[in-house]
Amino acid sequence: MTSTPEVSAARLLEERGVTLISLDLDDTLLDSDALAEMRLHAAAEEARRRLPGSTSRIDLALREGLAANPVTVGRLGAFFATLELDSQSAEGVAVRAEYNRVLIDDLDWIEGAREVVLRLRERFTLAVVTNGPTEIQWPKLRKFDIGSLIDHIVVSGDLGLHKPDPGIFEHLLARAGVDASKAAHVGDSVHSDVAGARAAGMTSIWLPPRKREPDEVGEHVPDAVIERLEELLGE
Ligand SMILES: [Mg+2]
Repeated sequence: MTSTPEVSAARLLEERGVTLISLDLDDTLLDSDALAEMRLHAAAEEARRRLPGSTSRIDLALREGLAANPVTVGRLGAFFATLELDSQSAEGVAVRAEYNRVLIDDLDWIEGAREVVLRLRERFTLAVVTNGPTEIQWPKLRKFDIGSLIDHIVVSGDLGLHKPDPGIFEHLLARAGVDASKAAHVGDSVHSDVAGARAAGMTSIWLPPRKREPDEVGEHVPDAVIERLEELLGE
């Protein structure tokens, strides 16, 4: 990691007159990383049921998946590649379905995140901008009734635009009627959240992931770094 700024996120929001805070969903509000290993074990279990002769290859694929970078290749992607399993085959579809079922069934808020959202909405317009397929992200959003807490929800799969494409943030800003200079985005991914918000001209706040290695900051230096969402409240 290169050097990151020391400025307080709450002070920055105040100084810049920010009125809209956009939040990433996975590993910013919801604790998706907590389920990563459990999901892959469930996928391997399904593969063992579907491919009874492939036990040792499935064990190897599980090890490769657990060790894979979740952001680039993806854990399930590494599992499929090692197993040489076509994700479109009947077995592949069943394995992916099991992987996703565990995510939606067992997902929970990051501790304290819902309370921070409730406090922030007293002072800001709130948005969620999340990358992922429509059929995965909306069940998560509905499970936690996030639509009742957040003014604008933007799912990349609905638009065909994915962070870090600034277009997804521009879509939000147009919908909310807020200028980029008065908007901030908070997320755990340097590559998606920080780079995308910067490209759209928004204030970028990075919440480094706690349960996996953070991305390299490189050229995508955030305007502020927080360790906990509560820091946005400035109390
Ligand atoms: Mg995230």
